[in-house]
Amino acid sequence: MSNQELFDEACQYIPGGVNSPVRAFQSVESAPVFVKSAKGSRVLDEENHEYIDYICSWGPLILGHNHPVIQQAIIEASQYGSSFGLPTKIEVEMAKLVVESYEGIDMVRMVNSGTEATMSALRVARGYTKRNKIIKFEGNYHGHSDGLLVKAGSGAMTFQTPTSLGIPEETVSQTIVCVYNDLTSVKKAIEQYPEDIAAIILEPIAANMGIIQADEEFLKGLRQLCDEYHIVLIFDEVITGFRVDYHSCPKFLGVVPDMVCFGKIIGGGLPVGAYGGKKEIMELVSPSGPIYQAGTLSGNPLAMRVGYAQLTYLKDHPEVYQHITSSAQYLAKGIEKILNELHLPFQVHQVGSLLTLFFTAQDVHQYTDVQTCDTHLYTIFFKEMLKQGILIAPSQFEAWFISDSHTKQDLDDTLIAIHQALVKVYD
Ligand code: PLP
Repeated sequence: MSNQELFDEACQYIPGGVNSPVRAFQSVESAPVFVKSAKGSRVLDEENHEYIDYICSWGPLILGHNHPVIQQAIIEASQYGSSFGLPTKIEVEMAKLVVESYEGIDMVRMVNSGTEATMSALRVARGYTKRNKIIKFEGNYHGHSDGLLVKAGSGAMTFQTPTSLGIPEETVSQTIVCVYNDLTSVKKAIEQYPEDIAAIILEPIAANMGIIQADEEFLKGLRQLCDEYHIVLIFDEVITGFRVDYHSCPKFLGVVPDMVCFGKIIGGGLPVGAYGGKKEIMELVSPSGPIYQAGTLSGNPLAMRVGYAQLTYLKDHPEVYQHITSSAQYLAKGIEKILNELHLPFQVHQVGSLLTLFFTAQDVHQYTDVQTCDTHLYTIFFKEMLKQGILIAPSQFEAWFISDSHTKQDLDDTLIAIHQALVKVYD
């Protein structure tokens, strides 16, 4: 069956034909790629087209597809059983590994997705501070829980309306949306509600409006404000955790939060999430404390063993980080060279192994800059790349992920394709 035929059939049984919206390739007006198998940097679709893949499952696959270490861990883990609903040794080992990797956290609770991690961390921050309001930033995505699914708006500070139907106005009325990289907008919000804000949650390197790194001054300012007003600072490291560095953003950016949320890489491709923090905060979580949070499959033994295998490999092979970062730098420099040759004013952002080509002439620091991107041009570009066997994010606002499996040859082939695709964009 072709991708189109599969998609048509899928649409009869699954809303929009997919189990998560971005997979529908709606924004690039194509049928999605239905994956048959994948290995290393490549995916093979149901039509037997092979692509160099920069989606990499949206982040978990830092080592590439079906890496031998992960494959072996899955085989081994499957021998013991898939779920017990009772504690296992591997959960303890995993918690220890994660806690030891991350400055400033003493305890961690495993959940099943990044959404659960951010949702639970906020409940804990609210329980800890006995306050209700939270601050998030325009263009930062933290999963699809009600209070965090808030439309980004204009202005320095706004109470928002829900991005989705089905979310009560009262729920998001507790969410204050501020401007990324703009400390003044945060100060204004805090001055207005000095006693009411439980937490500030952010992606310290935003990866859901293209890649935008938080400015040092902004991050340090947030840390100071949180200390001054007893607000819990939460880093959402669902994408950046173990990606920008084995020790994640505290090491990479030099600022330590009070709580952290993980997902993606810590599961090695299996469904997982986690949130952690200082002991005095985390001990309030049930059953040691009064803040309830639970999960039938939390700490699932398959996910734990596979995640543990991936994290241990990363810990023992620091050269992975050098490789993926230098690969992304090589790609970014190559793209910049092409842009110069073609006299195109677009922006390339690369942080660690994450990359975005913004189709705008404007410098990009925050959400309003991102909105100046020409998404129509991106659609044409995406389709040309796909034709040439390169699978990039089907949205201007998603990151490209470079894995340890991407070879120099992959990168060179990608640069040739980018050149041709950009020429086509302006045909
Ligand atoms: N936080 C960030 C920064 C994310 O990028 C995502 C998902 O992409 C989430 C949270 C939600 O994670 P999940 O899709 O596992 O629920």
